[in-house]
This record gives sequence, structure tokens and C-alpha cells, in this order.
Amino acid sequence: MSQGFLGFADNPDWQQAAQDDVQIADVVFNLPLERPYSYVVPDQLRGMLRAGQRVTAPLGRSNRAVTGYCVGVRQSDTQTRRLKPILELLDAEPLIDEAMLELTQWIGQRYLCGWGQVLDSIIPAGVRRRSGTREIRCFELAEDAESRLQSTRLNRQQQAIVDILRSSQQPVAATSLCEEAGCGPGPLSTLQKKGLILPLRMRTEVSGEDTGGPIRKEADLTLNPQQRQALNTILKPIREGVSETLLLHGVTGSGKTEVYIQAIREVVSYGRQAIVLVPEISLTPQTIRRFRSRFKSVAVLHSHMSDADRHWHWQQIAAGRVEVIVGARSAVFAPTPHPGLIVIDEEHEPTFKQDSTPRYHAREVAHQRCQAHGIPLILGSATPTLEAWLRAQRGIYRLVSMPHRVEGRPLPPVVIVDTRNDPRVSRGSSIGRAMQQAIMRALKEKGQVILFLNLRGYSPVVWCRSCGEGVKCGQCDITLTLHRDRNVVVCHSCDFEAEPPQTCPGCGSPAIRFLGTGTQRLDEEVRHLFPQARVLRMDSDSMKRPGSHDEALSSFRRGEVDILLGTQMIAKGLDFPNVTLVGVVDADTMLRQPDLRAAERTFQLIAQVAGRTGRGERAGRVLVQTTVPDDPAVRYASEHDYIGFAGHELAERHDALAPPFSAVARVIFRGPDDQRTRETAIAVAERLRAGRTEETQDVRILGAAPAPILRLRNYWRYHLQICGATSEKVRQLWESVEQSLTLPEDVELAVDVDPMNAR
Ligand code: ADP
Ligand code: ZN
Ligand code: ZN
Repeated sequence: MSQGFLGFADNPDWQQAAQDDVQIADVVFNLPLERPYSYVVPDQLRGMLRAGQRVTAPLGRSNRAVTGYCVGVRQSDTQTRRLKPILELLDAEPLIDEAMLELTQWIGQRYLCGWGQVLDSIIPAGVRRRSGTREIRCFELAEDAESRLQSTRLNRQQQAIVDILRSSQQPVAATSLCEEAGCGPGPLSTLQKKGLILPLRMRTEVSGEDTGGPIRKEADLTLNPQQRQALNTILKPIREGVSETLLLHGVTGSGKTEVYIQAIREVVSYGRQAIVLVPEISLTPQTIRRFRSRFKSVAVLHSHMSDADRHWHWQQIAAGRVEVIVGARSAVFAPTPHPGLIVIDEEHEPTFKQDSTPRYHAREVAHQRCQAHGIPLILGSATPTLEAWLRAQRGIYRLVSMPHRVEGRPLPPVVIVDTRNDPRVSRGSSIGRAMQQAIMRALKEKGQVILFLNLRGYSPVVWCRSCGEGVKCGQCDITLTLHRDRNVVVCHSCDFEAEPPQTCPGCGSPAIRFLGTGTQRLDEEVRHLFPQARVLRMDSDSMKRPGSHDEALSSFRRGEVDILLGTQMIAKGLDFPNVTLVGVVDADTMLRQPDLRAAERTFQLIAQVAGRTGRGERAGRVLVQTTVPDDPAVRYASEHDYIGFAGHELAERHDALAPPFSAVARVIFRGPDDQRTRETAIAVAERLRAGRTEETQDVRILGAAPAPILRLRNYWRYHLQICGATSEKVRQLWESVEQSLTLPEDVELAVDVDPMNAR
């Protein structure tokens, strides 16, 4: 399976290298180990091996050859006889540069995972595998060919081949030589046998093209005074070449994107590149067109690219041929040679946190990268995270405010509808009377309607009336959701599917009920209530096919749909001028989540969906249905009062010593055996409590306790939380204990620093 660029696995000489002047390579593997391993660089690889290249090296007692990343090469004169040698060098060139190496090391430390795990995750598989390239056989003239040719007789075809190679500066592919000389492979092997030409294996370049084709370039808009002021504040650190984080707090429709674009224009004029991170869901043709129409070369990185495409873009970006990179979370690692600015749009989106190892937050990584390069970072949002807001309050970030929408458009009035006594809702409908009338009026006035509900499926609760229990997934601790369109019940955690149960699996009673409303049921109700309206549902079930998301939005924009209903998918950064009504069908579902950030998410979602109306000439309005009309998150959102909400919520978090006033790391244990998993979690919690020193004595350990989802895909799950005043303290305690932990074979552990969900 050797894919080796150069291999020395069976070279007996390596012990020789371990004498006086030796080169040592530090190598990290895709393992949760924090320190690199040292190896001797064999003579044959001296001068070739550099940091950022992959190698294979023997690991562990068995000396199994494992692929790792070289993170440094150094000279050593100390005794190194005990070190093992590097076996193979896998890459001709480093995959990433020094700055990126340092960044990945920082991520490993900050997020308590292995450096090698970070490298393995951020370097796309397509880049590692050189996807889209092929190995081809080439020939070049031997060095002494000219002198020897004097005394050698060649036939016509052989002469033709030599002539082609003479006139070419580079090696030529065997196939082209045969084609141009009009011969088969015979003459090539004759020339090779005579030692006149030498064979080589070379890789073709990866090829690709800009998708989307040519696009009409558009001029920059003339900024209004609010935008101009924001831009000037942003240009200051850009022009001075200093690193600064700016929090651009601008209401929905205040024209933040135009400010980013003009800031990027400045950076590009210095020959530098800009990276714009957006939530995956916002990578719509509309967003892409906005950037493509303003810049010469824009690369768009999204999650469904082929390996070859990703490789090609990576090379283009690394070669400095791309001015602006627009992409989701992982684009923060785009290998720009001279980054000049990073923008994170919709900074509050939870998708900027990765929920598998390495569990980094793009905001923190971007901040670190910007510091290293001495360049600014812009965080833009109408509803910043409280983390960002607190830092702005403390002067760590510079706050830039855009409180008004462009062209003096008003923010839409938000009406809170108390559904506790609504006659329709009491009868089981999800659209209450006020909402029904508002939709009717909007349709009559030829406006478009957006209805938001963050539960998909038909009925989110399958419930037994006899024993009063929810009917759960066989593998998870999760109540099943009925999907009526396919007549199945689905687990939204593991995708388990089954026919709807006729009887309760617990008590055998036939009294099964399907409760609650998901988007499918809402869809049905809306079509029934407004039979003339054209209705489109958008959720991850109805939008499975690639491209369907964009198609749906385009048809809504063209006015072919009157009512668009769906989940979070419809709440993001979309700009539809004809939307005159936005309905939040059930604000309570978000508020009731057992999550530290439930209130923050509720506020954000209401504010974001409200932002989808009143964006054109026509005024719009928003209706929010709830049974808790006095809840602060709902109240402040209805008043468009982010600052009021942030003040209120920060006070609550402060009293609870919760983030952002503290740092949390969550340690999750999982295993097939309930008792062993629980006992391991409890033992680790005890070790942490006992391991506190003078410095870390005020670090609190919460748990171990069952995780909110106790069973997931047949694994039992327990967790504990380490809470400290700063992330350094949390790290200090964890690292001091982690070193000496030995887990049972079948219990795995994952650490989530700054967790964003508490599943
Ligand atoms: P945000 O990102 O803050 O929600 P956008 O950047 O999407 O706002 O801008 C909202 C709308 O206003 C867009 O259609 C945009 O083209 C338009 N717009 C932005 N700035 C200006 C301006 N200076 N003059 C006219 N229209 C503008
Ligand atoms: Zn039952
Ligand atoms: Zn399940």
C-alpha cells in the first residue's frame, strides 16, 4: 500500500545516521496525544524532509508503520541511538506552511486535542490524496546524452524522440512522445536501454474551473453615512497593519455586506487575500453572486465539493490566485499566502463551532490567525453572541454599530400573540386566529409569507396514553417523530426508522397518540386553511437533493410561492423584498430546550426571522405565537432591543457564573456498558476534584452525571463539566489529570471546550 514519494523502509543504513551530526524530525499522529514523537531522519531524506510533510514512522511497541505529520526538523548532537527512524516521506512538498502549523498547534492546546488530529481534520482529504491528479510516465534526456549521441546511430523514430526532448525544457510524457514521433513504445525502451533517456514518474496538475461562469461585474454602492463611518473604523487597522477584532453590530438589512465588500476592496488592493466565513446555509447563489460581481477571483468553499475540486481550489488559493474566499467554517483554514482580513458574517450562528474533534470555534481560530498575521478580524451580526458582546463591552473587541436599516426602512413591528386562550389553538391547530387573519390579509394584498417552526416531521412526540411515556428510539434516549409523508417514525438523532407502532412497546396498550406539530403537519394545516395559496415547505427532509435549497429560494423570489414554511433553513440572511408577513409559529419550543443558551437562541431566531421582512419598498410585520408572552427573550425581540436583551441575559449568566463569565470544558464518556461507563465518569470526576492545586482550587467540577441524551446509538453516555474562571485554568487542571488517566477498553472520552450544545 506504499503511496510513498520516497521510501526507505528496508534500508539497513539508518542506524548509521544516528551518530554524530543527526537530524531529528518531530512527528504528530492522528491521535489524542499532545506531544510530538521524535525520529531520526535517515541520510537519504536529509534536506528533503520539512515540516508540513507527511511521513510514515514506526509507532508503539509493535512498531506499526503509521502515517503522521512532520512538524519540525532539527539538528541534534545528543545521544539518539534509541530513536527510531522515519520510514517514508509521503509528500514532495509541505501541505501547509509554518504559520498554519503554528495555528494548528494552538488549536490542539486550546481545544484539548492532539495536534495530529487537528492537522488530519483541516487538511482536506482531496489535498492529501492529490485528488484529480494522475501519475504519468515521463522521459528526459540523460545528462551525458549529447556527448554520447555523437557516437550513436539512431533510427528515424529514435531521432525524433531525442529532438522533441532536446527542444523541451521539461520531461515529456511517454504518451506524447509516442504520439509526436509517430511510434509505439519500442523506440523509447531502446533509448532507455542505451542510457540516452531517463524515465521519471510525474504527477499531472490538478485541473478545475471556476463554477458559475462569467458574471456581470457591478460597481460598489455608494455608502450611506452609517456605513461610511463603520468602514472608516474598519479601514484604520487595515491601513495601519495591526490586528484588531471589530464587532460590527448592525441590524438586519443595515447593509453590513456592502461594508465588508469595501473593506475587502482595500485589502485586495494591497495584493492580499480576504476570507469571508458565512453559515453553510447562507452559501446561496445570491450570496455568491454578490461577491463574484465585485471581485476578479472569488473561490467558494462549501461542504459538497468533490475531492478533486477541493484540491484544485486549495492549490489556486495557495498560489495566491484568489482574491476572496467565501466559505463555511472550515474556510478559516484556506491557505492564503498573504491574508489581509477575515470576516465572519452572522457570527452568532452555532455552526461556526465544529461538533466533532477538533471541536474548534471559527471565531477563536480566526482571531488567533489574525493575531499571528497582524490583520483585522470583523465579526458581523444583528444578534452577536454574548461572548462577543461581553468582549466588546470590555474593550477587547472594538464595537462598530449600525443601528438603522438602509434607506431609512423601518424594522418591522413585532406583535406577540398569546395563544393560551386562542380558540383555534385550544382545538389543536398551530395557526391561531390572529395568525390566520394576518396571513389572509397578506395574501389578499399580494404579499409573501414566511412561517417559521423549528421542529421537522409531522408529530414530534409519539406518546402512549396508558403509561404516559413517550415512545423512544430503540438505540437512543429520544422520542420518535412521526413522518406522515412516508408513514414512518424516525429518530432525529440516529435516523432509525420504523413503521408507526400500533401498540406501546412499553405496556402493550393500543392508545398511541401522535402529539405536537412539526413542519409537515403545519404544511398540511396551511394548505387546508388557504387552499388557493401556493405553499412550499423547506426543511432538511424536503431539501435532501443537492440544489433543491437554491431552487426553492429562487422560486420563492420569483413569486411562484405565496407561503414559505420551514425550519432554521429559512431564517438565514435571505433578502426577499416582497415578504410582508413573518410568522413564528411556536417560540416556546426553542425556549424550552434544556440549554444554557435557550434564551439567547430564541432571541436570535426571532430577530433573524423578523429580519426577513420589510426589506423592500413594502412594509412588513411579524407575529410571534407563544404561551409565555412575558418571557424576556420574546419581549426584547419584539422590541428589536438587542442591547436590552444582552444586558438582561448577561446579568443572569453573571449571577450563575455561567459563560461568558466562566470557561467550561465538557468531558463526555461513552461506552456499550452502562455501569462501566458511569463508574469511569465518576472516577474521573473524583480525580479532577482531588487533582486541584492552589492555582486551580476554584475550578468547579460538575458531575459526573448522565448526559441529557443518556443513550445514543446504543452507547451509554455520561458527562462532567469543568468550570473555571478562564480557559487556561480549565486546561491546566485537565492536562494535569489527563496524563495519568487509563480508561477501560470500551469507554471512550471526548472533550468539548466551550461546548455549544449539551446533548
Ligand atoms: P445586512 O447584511 O446588514 O442584513 P445587506 O448587506 O444584505 O444587509 O443589505 C440589505 C440590502 O440593502 C441589500 O439589498 C443591499 O444591496 C442594500 N444596500 C446595502 N447598502 C446599500 C447602500 N449604501 N445603498 C443602497 N442599497 C444598499
Ligand atoms: Zn404504554
Ligand atoms: Zn436513535
